[in-house]
Amino acid sequence: MAEPAVARLTIDLDALAHNFHVLKGEAGGAELAPVVKADGYGLGAGPVARRLWAEGARSFFVARLAEGEVLRAALGAERPATIYVLDGFTAGAGPRLSAAELTPALLSVAQVAAASAWAAGAGRPWNVALHVDTGMNRQGLTPDEARALVQGHGGLRGLHVDLLMSHLGSATTPDDPRNSNQLSAFSELRREFPDARASLAASAGIFLGEAYRFDLARPGISLYGGGPFERPDDRLQAVATLSAPIVDIRNLRPGDIVGYGSSVRAERPMRTAVVAAGYADGLIRAAKAGGYGWLDGARRRLLVVTMDLTVLEIGETEAQVGDPVELLGPNARLDDLAAAAGTVAHEVLVRLSRRAERRYLGEV
Ligand SMILES: *Cc1c(COP(=O)(O)O)cnc(C)c1O
Repeated sequence: MAEPAVARLTIDLDALAHNFHVLKGEAGGAELAPVVKADGYGLGAGPVARRLWAEGARSFFVARLAEGEVLRAALGAERPATIYVLDGFTAGAGPRLSAAELTPALLSVAQVAAASAWAAGAGRPWNVALHVDTGMNRQGLTPDEARALVQGHGGLRGLHVDLLMSHLGSATTPDDPRNSNQLSAFSELRREFPDARASLAASAGIFLGEAYRFDLARPGISLYGGGPFERPDDRLQAVATLSAPIVDIRNLRPGDIVGYGSSVRAERPMRTAVVAAGYADGLIRAAKAGGYGWLDGARRRLLVVTMDLTVLEIGETEAQVGDPVELLGPNARLDDLAAAAGTVAHEVLVRLSRRAERRYLGEV
């Protein structure tokens, strides 16, 4: 009997390190603080952060408090780092933030008040980040609220604002005037916080030019190989490769119908390969609309994605049962798959599932 046919997810930490250095070069003198929320965009926050620490990263961002705790444990005492929590100071978070030495990115006046009250008990200034909303309308204090905190008396009592941050809503569209509007609002506010470092750019923002880089940038997706502008970027390498072996090769006649329902019908004689990966392994079902896999040096159109199996049209190839098909990776490109599925690269990565057998390449 043959080996069981399973999907394999390979996570290339050397490619991750390569992307880190490309972004570092692009960011000028700004510190790079990798964003490793959602378990390192699904690729494993522990191995990802440990490798990036080895490459020089000393600050990280997560979204949730629990992610911060897991990351602190994964880095261990031998890898000291600042870990910012984007959810900020949530109810009852004080003891846990302190125990894991996490830095909340405070995002409302109420959070600032709660953090200040908690810090009063600690007896020494507590480092926090302040997240301001300069036009994305998702989270953060308004610039006026932030200004009132420094101008009013005692609004930040017990707190030391170590980082002033904001997030761009349209950075993947460089010409969008929202970028420069947010930049002006942020630059103006920054003058009120002369002692804080400043951060505005995520992956795409780093590529908008020097004015956007400030002291610290927060790249996520481009570390993991996603192009900053939602299309493949040859300077970056694929970190995640999903591949699966062919379990069957079929010859269809005109009129044959493939998979469930009747939407996919062979209009001519067609050779197809059935591979052992499906949406339960993380391949997005909607990607069949224009998506492709890579086999024998060429792109092969996705016809059908089911839970456990995917069917591609393979044309003339010497490929045989057992040969691996790349469904995501250096050739089946992340941004192309995302575009075919009508989503962003971030979502493609976080959906990669635990069912696919994981393997890491490169030093952790
Ligand atoms: C997720 C996130 C990032 C990272 O964005 P990418 O597009 O993945 O580079 C940076 N900053 C904030 C506030 C975020 O929520």
